Amino acid sequence: MILVIMGPPGAGKGTQASRLAAELGIPQVSTGELLREARRDGSEVGQRAAINMDAGTLVPDEVVMTLIERRLEQQDCGSGAILDGFPRTVAQAVQLDDMLERSGRQVDRVVSISVTEDEIVERILGRLTCGQCGAVYHRTTKPTAREGHCDLCGGLVSSRSDDNEEAVRIRLQTYSNLTAPVLDYYGGAGRLASVDGSGGLDEVFNRVQGAL
Ligand SMILES: [Zn+2]
Repeated sequence: MILVIMGPPGAGKGTQASRLAAELGIPQVSTGELLREARRDGSEVGQRAAINMDAGTLVPDEVVMTLIERRLEQQDCGSGAILDGFPRTVAQAVQLDDMLERSGRQVDRVVSISVTEDEIVERILGRLTCGQCGAVYHRTTKPTAREGHCDLCGGLVSSRSDDNEEAVRIRLQTYSNLTAPVLDYYGGAGRLASVDGSGGLDEVFNRVQGAL
């Protein structure tokens, strides 16, 4: 079973994808992770990815596609995988379909986690990260026991510098402009399930499972 999880930044997509992977016993395939690995392994495709990553430009589709194809050929993806962070454009979605078709597979289900823009802004702006160990907190929903200090290591927690409201709204707008057509593409083929991403992690996870 090949699943695709989609959702705007701050919707908790990565967390839900990893829980689902554990639940279904299939790997979570994150393109960000694949790119970082490719860069480390020094392969030709990895070097091509590195050039774009260093320049801050988009890694070409065929590079990402090659990495995903190779990943899905590995043994642990034999019963399927959960794609996280891909596809992000209709062109990528079409290429993904073509690639899977060649190996007799298909995208079985696309789960889109939707959260209102205001709620995402609230979530992201309230987010606090430990500068020392990377633990994540939230001003209102998951505060640290001692203000300004990490519960785990005592390091200083702060919000990300680019997390101001305007920047967050621009990121969300960019995401939705790019992915709305992808949702239409999958919706037209009857593969799309939209899940309400508001509320707690467990609540959302139940809805995700219900959508499969
Ligand atoms: Zn810490």
